[in-house]
Amino acid sequence: MMSSSLATVSYIGAIILFILSLGGLSNPETSRRGNLYGMIGMAIAVLATVFGPRVGTSGLPWIIGAMLVGASVGLYAARKVQMTQMPELVALMHSMVGLAACLVGFANYIDPMASLNLSSAEKGIHEIEVYLGILIGAVTFSGSLIAFGKLAGKIGGKPLLLPGRHFMNLLGLLVVIAFGWQFLHAETISAGMMALTVMTVIALLFGIHMVMAIGGADMPVVVSMLNSYSGWAAAATGFMLNNDLLIVVGALVGSSGAILSYIMCRAMNRNFFSVIAGGFGSGAGKPAKKVDGEAQPAGEVVSISAVETAELLREAKSVVIVPGYGMAVAQAQHAVNEITQFLREKGVNVRFGIHPVAGRMPGHMNVLLAEAKVPYDIVMEMDEINPDFPDTDVSMVIGANDIVNPAAQDEPGSPIAGMPVLEVWKAKTSIMMKRGMATGYAGVENPLFYKENNRMLFGDAKKMLDEVLVALKSQ
Ligand code: NDP
Repeated sequence: MMSSSLATVSYIGAIILFILSLGGLSNPETSRRGNLYGMIGMAIAVLATVFGPRVGTSGLPWIIGAMLVGASVGLYAARKVQMTQMPELVALMHSMVGLAACLVGFANYIDPMASLNLSSAEKGIHEIEVYLGILIGAVTFSGSLIAFGKLAGKIGGKPLLLPGRHFMNLLGLLVVIAFGWQFLHAETISAGMMALTVMTVIALLFGIHMVMAIGGADMPVVVSMLNSYSGWAAAATGFMLNNDLLIVVGALVGSSGAILSYIMCRAMNRNFFSVIAGGFGSGAGKPAKKVDGEAQPAGEVVSISAVETAELLREAKSVVIVPGYGMAVAQAQHAVNEITQFLREKGVNVRFGIHPVAGRMPGHMNVLLAEAKVPYDIVMEMDEINPDFPDTDVSMVIGANDIVNPAAQDEPGSPIAGMPVLEVWKAKTSIMMKRGMATGYAGVENPLFYKENNRMLFGDAKKMLDEVLVALKSQ
C-alpha cells in the first residue's frame, strides 16, 4: 500500500498532467499529446486512490472487482460505439457522473463515520456539501439522460414549452431552498433523508424539464453546459469524500465546460439565459414540410450529377469544403481527403470551412478530418473563411444543413435568426451534397436549396464522393 505522502505527490503529478492535457487538447496539432497526458494522469490518479492510505486492504477486492466490471463495460462500449454515436455516449457518461454524486451524497449522509469527530460548524459545512452535491448530481443525471435521448433521436428535438414553465422552475428552486433549511436543522437521520429525497425528486424533474425545453439548435450549448455540470458534480463529490484530486479535476472540467458553453453561445449568437429559457429551433431532421402560411422559398431546386460536379471542381481555382453531420453519418471523411489531395495536386486551392456547431459535438468535424489526415493548415474557422466566399469558385457542402442556412441572416422570424452561418451561397457555385430535401437538426427549411447558383448532388455523401473521385480521375 502507498504511504500518504506518496499518494499526495501522485495526486499533484496527476493534476499537473490534467492541466497539460487540457492545454494540449486546445489545438489539433497537440491534441494527441494532450490525450496521452490525460490517460497517464488518470492512470496515476486511479492507482494512487486504490492503493492509497484511505482504502484498507479489506475493501480492495471489492474495488478491484468493481473496476474490472467498469473497465469491461467501458472497453465493450468503446469498441462498439460508432463515431456518430459519440455525442450520445458522452451525454450518457455525464449522467453517470451525476448519478455517482447522488449515490456518494446519500451514502455519505447515512454513514456515521463520515461526520465522526466533526465540530458542529464542520458538520454544518459537511451537510451543505452533501445537499449541494446531490442537487447538482441529480440535475446532471436526469438532464444528461434526456440529452442522450435527444441526441440519439429517441426523443424528438421539438422543445417542450409548458405553460408557466419559468414559474414552475422558480417554485422548484424555492422548495429546494426550504427543504435545504429543513435538512440542515433535521434532528434525526430519517428527517434529513426525507428532505434529501424531496429535493432529489425536484432536482431530477428540473433536469428533465430544463433539457426538454431546449430547441434543436440550442443542443450544443446544453451538451457543453451538462459537461460543465458533471465537473461541478465531481467537485462536489470530492468535497464530500475529502478528496483534493477530485475537487481540482471537477473544477477543471466544470470551468472548461463553462468556457465551452460561452464559446458555443457566442457561436450561435445566443445569450446563455435565453438558451436556458429554451425554444430555439423546432423539429429534428424531418423532411421539410410547408407549414400553413410559411413562404415557400422562391426559385427551383436544380440537381447535378457526380460527373458534372467533378467538371466544376476540376475547372475551379479555389474550392471551399463545408462538412456537416451528414459527413459523419456517411463516414465520408477519407473520400473527402482523397478528393482534396487530388485537387491540390492539380493546383486547386482547397480549404475547409468549419462551423463551431457542425455535427453533433464540439470539434466533431475537426476530429473526423484529422482522422482522415486532412492537413490542419487548410482547415479554417467560420470567421476566417466567410470573407473568402465571394472569391471562391465552388463551395461544396457535404452533409451540412443548418450551418449553411441563409434564413439565419435573411429571415428575422426564422427560429435560427441571428445564428452566424457559413456563407457558401456567395461562392460562384455552391453544391449541396445530401440524400434528399430533409431539414437539419434544427428542423428549419433551407432556402439555399432554391438559390440560382446552388446545385443539389443527391445521394449518400460517401457514395457520391467516390463517384466524383472516379469521374475526376477519368477526366
Ligand atoms: P444538420 O443536422 O443541420 O444537417 C445534416 C444534414 O446531413 C441533414 O440535412 C441530412 O439531410 C444530411 N445527411 C444525413 N445523412 C447523410 C448521408 N449519409 N449523406 C449525405 N447527407 C446526409 O447538420 P449540421 O452539421 O449542418 O448542423 C449541426 C446541427 O446540429 C445544428 O443545428 C446544431 O445546433 C446541432 N447540434 C450540434 C451539436 C454540437 O455540439 N456540434 C450538438 C447537438 C446538436 P438528408 O437526410 O436529406 O441527407
